[in-house]
Amino acid sequence: MTTYKCFKCDEKISSEELERRFSCPHCNSRIFYKPRTAIKKIKVK
Ligand SMILES: [Zn+2]
Repeated sequence: MTTYKCFKCDEKISSEELERRFSCPHCNSRIFYKPRTAIKKIKVK
């Protein structure tokens, strides 16, 4: 599952949520971005 971030309010939104309704549940914005994978737990294939 992918997690996106709202461009406007910076809240995390799961891809599941976006599939159901393509807008931020917090501020109704429709601009999202994938946060850079700078987090440690990343598996490189
Ligand atoms: Zn938002």
